[in-house]
Amino acid sequence: MAGMARQTMGSGGYCICPKCDYRAPHQRGVPCQEQRCPHCGARLMREGSYHHQLLLEKRKQKSERKDEGN
Ligand SMILES: [Zn+2]
Repeated sequence: MAGMARQTMGSGGYCICPKCDYRAPHQRGVPCQEQRCPHCGARLMREGSYHHQLLLEKRKQKSERKDEGN
């Protein structure tokens, strides 16, 4: 079945910082990429977006690699 958890973005969702996981409610008409994290200054990305998925995948792979390198 291709019924992967389908998130309802509701009212805009969140922008998140890829570095420190800071979250801010997404503002209508303002792309997350144009906002900066107030903590570390990194560009925010839309939670659940393609790029966010990539980031999560990378992190997963890193932690898996850690387990292997024993
Ligand atoms: Zn940050």
